[in-house]
Amino acid sequence: MCGIIAYLGDRPSFPLIIKGLKRLEYRGYDSSGVAVFENGSLNIFKKKGKVADLEAEASAAGLTATIGIGHTRWATHGEPNDVNAHPHFSSDRRMALIHNGIIENYAAIKQRLEKKGHVFLSDTDSEVLIHFIEDIRKETGQPLEEAVRIALREVVGAYAIVILSQDAPDQLIAARKGSPLVIGIGDGEYFLASDATPIVEYTKNVVYLDDYEIAVVNAHGLKIVNLDNTEKLPYVQTIELELEAIEKGGYPHFMLKEIFEQPRSVADSMRGRIQPATGMLQLGGLTGHFDKLVEARRIILVGCGTSWHAGLVAEYLFEELARVNVEVEYASEFRYRNPVIHHDDVVIAISQSGETADTLAAIELAKERGATIFGVCNAVGSSIARATHAGAYTHAGPEIGVASTKAFTSQVTVLTLMAIALGRHKGTIRDEVFTGLLEGLAALPGQIGQVLENAGKIKEIAYIFTYARNFIYLGRGLHFPVALEGALKLKEISYIHAEGYPAAEMKHGPIALIDEDMPVIFIATRDSSYEKIVSNIQEVKARKGRVIAIVTEGDELIPKMVDFVIEIPESHEMISPLLSVIPLQLLSYYIAVMRGRDVDQPRNLAKSVTVE
Ligand code: GLU
Repeated sequence: MCGIIAYLGDRPSFPLIIKGLKRLEYRGYDSSGVAVFENGSLNIFKKKGKVADLEAEASAAGLTATIGIGHTRWATHGEPNDVNAHPHFSSDRRMALIHNGIIENYAAIKQRLEKKGHVFLSDTDSEVLIHFIEDIRKETGQPLEEAVRIALREVVGAYAIVILSQDAPDQLIAARKGSPLVIGIGDGEYFLASDATPIVEYTKNVVYLDDYEIAVVNAHGLKIVNLDNTEKLPYVQTIELELEAIEKGGYPHFMLKEIFEQPRSVADSMRGRIQPATGMLQLGGLTGHFDKLVEARRIILVGCGTSWHAGLVAEYLFEELARVNVEVEYASEFRYRNPVIHHDDVVIAISQSGETADTLAAIELAKERGATIFGVCNAVGSSIARATHAGAYTHAGPEIGVASTKAFTSQVTVLTLMAIALGRHKGTIRDEVFTGLLEGLAALPGQIGQVLENAGKIKEIAYIFTYARNFIYLGRGLHFPVALEGALKLKEISYIHAEGYPAAEMKHGPIALIDEDMPVIFIATRDSSYEKIVSNIQEVKARKGRVIAIVTEGDELIPKMVDFVIEIPESHEMISPLLSVIPLQLLSYYIAVMRGRDVDQPRNLAKSVTVE
């Protein structure tokens, strides 16, 4: 959600910051801005809309400064407009601040400051913070670093901030709580950002700031203190991210690139973890805590959005393969529900970014109540990865498209491995089923590749339905969550209204919507509910619905009943969601492109949702 990039060094900061902001665009934003020193004074340029608009406007100023801060905003307090965009000035205009997150007690602080004569230009909580720091400086006479520390001790909420001050024009001050901030260390230069994507082309050496830490960066180096004023030695890590991973590599959109990356990303999720020939299945990250999983009275899967759908798929897998009681929860509901949690419950938290605020809060709650927490995250070293007792990374590589594709299939792959490992250990999986599952998994990357070869046909179907106003997605069993995921993909990037239902549930209500204008997508592969879903297709056809069916290769019955079919290869039923979801991703993608949508940055959406 929103982005920060700041620079201190010898290079001209403005082009570097603009490039960084463009790299951060994928996180989702509505406006952007920069602050730089130019001719001895602090200048701010900010604008609603795209970074390119900001670039066009500020370029005219001929900026040459070698220090600066830049921000993409995802509005929480105050509408997206030029004034509410960041950076924000202090009242004397000698300091500028950028902020990701929410200052929850901003209203009370604002009231106090207004009584002292502070005038606020924007509606944001962020502007209040820089005025607050300014006020503390004036009242106490303390240096800026100390004023920041005093202010943050009083602040409730989440933040990653960077401050540029005219009183120390060769210094940046940053801090974080609940919103990520990484510091790239180059040769006599520093890069501060919300994630490594704008940094990686300059340096691989980074320091991840922890919650309640303040970083001071200047020519003397990097100093980190916590809010109790204890100094900490920076821990420098090497990031593995390669530049190609965050570039489009010839594809028109990141989303398409990431859909086509799935044979590799799914293989990466399994790499070193299975070996069908020897029956080896191991998840290194779970070692040490695996007994907790074996002894679990109940597994609670928590996530949001697509990750919640991955949890729903996993519910079937854990129940079927490991015969354990499973619940799947929206993190945002779970955390506020006073849930009953036992010390022998295991919570599996699923999040691509590892920064999802609701999921983090759910983890904290379950931890307080004694549960063991496992994480299934994509971003290495993320807040969730650090907050959990154990876990398994999905290794999908950076996902830049806002609509999740390869992260979903990697999450499901890892959860499948966990369910099989557990079932194997508990003796609830027969040997031949175990071998069949491992062989099925090993064949998956190739089979996903086969589905992708159908892209041309899926594009033709998308063309026919480009102007549909509604869609219904239906599936049974493991394909019910896939139906939900397919509908979500379409909503997210094409803005077409779509609903997913269990196919059998249709007759309890949604069937009223069926007429000749209603496209209905059935996931109707040849599995244990095949006959049942064939009946559901008949019910829709009898009411003149237009049916697109995802079927198993070689199916002869369904193609005769429906309007369009998309074939996927035969696979083990437990693994088949990893194939049936692929055509749905492609269908949404092509429909959105044909409707002229901004596929990689759909309106109102953010990639990593770091606010509640
Ligand atoms: N809460 C702040 C605002 O609305 C920051 C939002 C963000 O994280 O971009 O301006």
